[in-house]
Amino acid sequence: MGAARLGFRGRLIAAMIALVTLVSVVIGALLMVYLFEDEKNRALEQLTISERLTEEILQRRTALELSRLNVIVQDFGFLSAIASRNPATLDSALDNHRRRAGADFAVLLDSRGEPMATTLTRPLNLLDRFDLDTARRQGFSRRLAYLGERGYELLMVPVKASGLRAWLVAGFALDQELANAIERLSGSSVVFRARSTDQQPFRIFAGSQGRGHEAEEELTGDAGGRHFLQNRHYFTRLVELSDSGEAQIQAALLISREASLRNYYQRALEIALLVAGILLLATLLALLIARHLGRPVLQLADYARAVGDGHTAQPPAISAGGELQQLRDALGDMLIRLQEREAQIRYAATHDDVTGLGNRNALKQEAEEVFRQRQPRTLIGLRLSGLSEINDTLGLEFGDKVLQQLALRLRQELAQAQIIAHTGGGEFLALLPHIPQDRLLSQAEHLHAVIQTPLQVDGTPFSPRLTMVTMALPEDASNTNELRRRLNLTFEQADDKPEQVVRYQPGQDESHLRELKLIADLAGAIRNNGLHMQYQPKLDLATGQLVQVEALVRWMHPELGFVSPEEFIFLAEQSGQIHDLTAHILERVAEDARAWTAQGVDAGVAINLSAKDLTWPRLTDHLARTFAHWHHALARITLEVTESALMEDPEEALATLNKLRALGVTLSVDDFGTGYSSLSQLRQMPVQELKIDKSFVLNLDTEPQDQLIVKSTIDMAHGLGLKVVAEGIENLDAWHLLRAWGCNLGQGFGLSRPVPPTDLPAVRDALAERRQALIQKPTENAS
Ligand code: C2E
Ligand code: CA
Ligand code: CA
Repeated sequence: MGAARLGFRGRLIAAMIALVTLVSVVIGALLMVYLFEDEKNRALEQLTISERLTEEILQRRTALELSRLNVIVQDFGFLSAIASRNPATLDSALDNHRRRAGADFAVLLDSRGEPMATTLTRPLNLLDRFDLDTARRQGFSRRLAYLGERGYELLMVPVKASGLRAWLVAGFALDQELANAIERLSGSSVVFRARSTDQQPFRIFAGSQGRGHEAEEELTGDAGGRHFLQNRHYFTRLVELSDSGEAQIQAALLISREASLRNYYQRALEIALLVAGILLLATLLALLIARHLGRPVLQLADYARAVGDGHTAQPPAISAGGELQQLRDALGDMLIRLQEREAQIRYAATHDDVTGLGNRNALKQEAEEVFRQRQPRTLIGLRLSGLSEINDTLGLEFGDKVLQQLALRLRQELAQAQIIAHTGGGEFLALLPHIPQDRLLSQAEHLHAVIQTPLQVDGTPFSPRLTMVTMALPEDASNTNELRRRLNLTFEQADDKPEQVVRYQPGQDESHLRELKLIADLAGAIRNNGLHMQYQPKLDLATGQLVQVEALVRWMHPELGFVSPEEFIFLAEQSGQIHDLTAHILERVAEDARAWTAQGVDAGVAINLSAKDLTWPRLTDHLARTFAHWHHALARITLEVTESALMEDPEEALATLNKLRALGVTLSVDDFGTGYSSLSQLRQMPVQELKIDKSFVLNLDTEPQDQLIVKSTIDMAHGLGLKVVAEGIENLDAWHLLRAWGCNLGQGFGLSRPVPPTDLPAVRDALAERRQALIQKPTENAS
């Protein structure tokens, strides 16, 4: 928010108010300056008039005083008093006449300037102050003097009588009376001031009544032209009354600023109110205009927002100027183009651009809908084999045309489809309304036949090879992940199967998932000792003694529980982990054997090898290293290799067996009888032992055919110099039959189940206890 977010209207209002404020303030300030100047000019004008009036008043006063003095000097009584030369008479006459003339003092001088009489107590040398020549010529002389801290106008007139030459000097004070007269006539206050020398300050000695008491100190201030002073309280004009002689006397004319200032402030207030009024008006006006101007802008903003949201909004009716209308039209165009582009994007998002069918997304959406609604659907999947080869050899364009023609055929054949999608590569998927199981296969085979008929691509005949799979939804998959995984699984299986159409078999995916999990977890189990070994005793049938134990690997999966060794060994072979597993088992067995030897159990060990181990070049080395500290002859280590493993790649198996044989270990053919090998074939192999498969032994006591096979096998093997082991002995009857037939070793649950290595001492003891029973002749003989 804040200034940064000030809207269009706000800025408009702010700009207008700022402009009006600026103009009002400038006008107001100019008015104030003008008012001030006006006041000053009027004061100056008045002072000029007052100055002229002051001069005139002073002249008139002088004229009046002179006429009075002239009357005195012709007065007979006065002349006779002078003539009497009696000082007392003269003094009193002088004083009488001074009073008549209104003078403040009077002095009578003789022709040489010597005082003859005076009303002053202190005699003054007054003659210096007068220009006698001028006085003789014009009949008087006038001077201003500053005496005893008062200013005076001194007038000197001659006293003319026969033979008498004397001068009458009279002093008239520049007093308040004069000042009052000036004030009354000019309207300006006046003070008189003087100083004796230039160095001294002026002193005020009289002033009119109207002047403020501040006048004295206020006579300082900036000097304007023509002795003009201006300060806080007064405009002042200084009038020089005496310009020669020793003392300087001035009249200061004062105009009080108090009234005019009051006037000035009054005006200022009025102007300020006016400016405020104008501002208020301007603000209201600005708001009004902004509202008017802003409304269409706001309407356009709403419209733009609606366009942005993809609504088909009605454009606002804008009566105002061209730009806003243009903007509205541009927004309208934008809306149309946005909608077009959105439609294009939506189309591209759900369609395959090669075939125009739906794409993977579209299929996913449809399938999700099917799963949500739990609608029964049949899915038909089709994969064109070798698309990348077609693209590589015949060109992408050719490949595209093949796909397009297949798409066309699918469209024609599956008109009822909810969706047909090209889901990448050469894969097409179609979701169809449910087709019952009994009709599905024939329909799918028909479709397969139609689509597989040769195509004409640019005049070239082309026969597509196709795999087709079907799934029933939602039984075969309940979400899109399952669907995709099971579809891939079915396609993979279809590649290996001769059928043209393969249906997903429920449960396949689960076992597939289990396999993936086991494969993934096996490596960890090998690394972290998740596997352990059990050992199943092999007994000498003749003596009943424990000779050897067979090592059998066990895996207790933390989530899936017991996993059969057949299952995970097969997976280890498939996933390339079998050598690691075998190496690990060899190490565990060597370790366990050390432990049971320490506990006094004397037993050789039989270890199972996988078919893949026979093609592992380092097997022999590894075995030799692991059993380097073996406590017996290496011949007591038997390696069991299944018959089928030997037959898988007999030559390579032979090479490995020879190497192992050279090491000195015993080699045994496991599960003998389940494969297709013959004893004569086994003669080529460096094996010393033959282990008859448990399937012939489990029911040996009751199955005459098994008895025949087992007895013959024992005889023939012995003929070839091979020892014979029988596994799967579950009861004593079988044991005694085998004994009677000369079988060398016996193993089976009837003797002992596989046990952990720590249980071996106890098992050995239990077997020793049973030994008598095992080697006794059975009560009733077998046939
Ligand atoms: P096999 O080598 O034929 O192992 C003998 C199997 O027969 C063992 O099953 C054993 O428990 C079982 N057996 C022994 N006596 C009787 C009996 O009286 N009655 C019945 N019903 N079964 C009996 P197991 O342990 O489940 O092993 C299955 C197969 O897994 C083995 O068959 C072998 O091919 C493979 N296998 C087991 N351990 C290893 C191993 O460490 N390495 C390799 N490569 N394969 C192993
Ligand atoms: Ca075995
Ligand atoms: Ca076996």
